[in-house]
Amino acid sequence: MRVAIIGAGVVGASAAWHLARAGAEPVLIDAGLEGRATAAGAGIVAPWAGSSAPDPDWHRRGSAAGRDYPAMIASLAEDGETDTGYARCGALIVNENPAPLERVARDLLSRRKAAPEMGEISVLDPTQARAAFPPLHPALRAVHIAGGARVDGRRLVAALRRAAMRHGAREMDGTASLIRHASVVGVQVGGEKVAADAVVVAAGAWSAALLAQVGVALPVAPQRGQIVHLQADVETDAWPSILPLPVSGHYLVAFEHGRVVAGATRETGSGFDYRLTAGGQAQVLADALRVAPGLAPMGVIEWRVGFRPLAADLMPLLGKVPAAPGLFVATGLGGTGLTLGPLTGRLLAESILGQPLTLDLSPYEPLRKLPAL
Ligand SMILES: Cc1cc2nc3c(=O)[nH]c(=O)nc-3n(C[C@H](O)[C@H](O)[C@H](O)COP(=O)(O)OP(=O)(O)OC[C@H]3O[C@@H](n4cnc5c(N)ncnc54)[C@H](O)[C@@H]3O)c2cc1C
Repeated sequence: MRVAIIGAGVVGASAAWHLARAGAEPVLIDAGLEGRATAAGAGIVAPWAGSSAPDPDWHRRGSAAGRDYPAMIASLAEDGETDTGYARCGALIVNENPAPLERVARDLLSRRKAAPEMGEISVLDPTQARAAFPPLHPALRAVHIAGGARVDGRRLVAALRRAAMRHGAREMDGTASLIRHASVVGVQVGGEKVAADAVVVAAGAWSAALLAQVGVALPVAPQRGQIVHLQADVETDAWPSILPLPVSGHYLVAFEHGRVVAGATRETGSGFDYRLTAGGQAQVLADALRVAPGLAPMGVIEWRVGFRPLAADLMPLLGKVPAAPGLFVATGLGGTGLTLGPLTGRLLAESILGQPLTLDLSPYEPLRKLPAL
């Protein structure tokens, strides 16, 4: 079965890998657009810590993604791919006051039976919290989630793509368009028509523009995020991610070789305006230094800008497009796509191949009625 996948972010690359491993023939097409979310994403994978998406389904899909991650990393390693930046470094939910943290710890513990992947939950005093993340403000206490992890979106996608190719996937560079042959949707890249039995739009925030080419209105829009990478002069590989309470767009995540990432703005209504702004940079740095003043002497390595693909109800848009046989959509992962993306790619592959689904997709019907964005 030949499957054309438009978009080689975390969703498209994961789908290509799963399809190729199952013996299908994915063709992964990407235009390398500025603002690709996967290339800008911070990389926190701690779905049990809550989300800015206040929807009842969050814990179901978040837990499934948290459960799936270590298995995916292990399967990639079997395929010879170990350079993903993934590490189970833990996560700290931080606040000055013990009471809200104790509530969080109780809530996590009540859900741990159903999601044992979250690991040990412990409450840390300010000294213990700073021992785990030295730049932290000395007044902050924490709840430690041992199962919290981080991943480097760029390295993960590169690993998925290499592994998919080894299983027989093909790649094409270029801008794809959707075309109609009678009722069936096809793909064109430059002057070339790509023959396929199924077509997947996994084009992130650009997915709505593609669907519009075949007369389908997809309710997804870009939300800009500006994010900074800092350089510490100590090893930071084992530092946990920092998630301030109450949950906001602000967080910190550390990688190997002293790289500490502080994010991020959440600019709904930004359109595809691929710019850093004075206000965005000021906000990201102020938030970071308020929570972790010890970051102040660190050098700035780079800023990144990405467009999160956001649906109005903050839920994924995932499944078949009823009006167009053979056409599938997978987007809308918003600010949690590095966490949900690998599972989303797998669900997509299962759906295309007619296999039993790991998770019921009905809440994510891509053309469900949504308020305007
Ligand atoms: C600043 C920031 C911080 C984030 N932090 C986190 C985090 O800590 N944890 C987490 O879980 N998530 C995080 N996210 C969210 C996550 O990065 C995204 O949800 C996820 O990467 C979306 O992946 P995607 O594959 O849907 O889209 P993308 O990665 O945007 O990929 C879409 C691809 O489609 C291609 N494309 C588009 N149109 C066409 C076309 N016509 N033809 C060919 N190719 C096309 C583009 O070039 C692009 O490569 C963050 C996002 C941002 C911006």
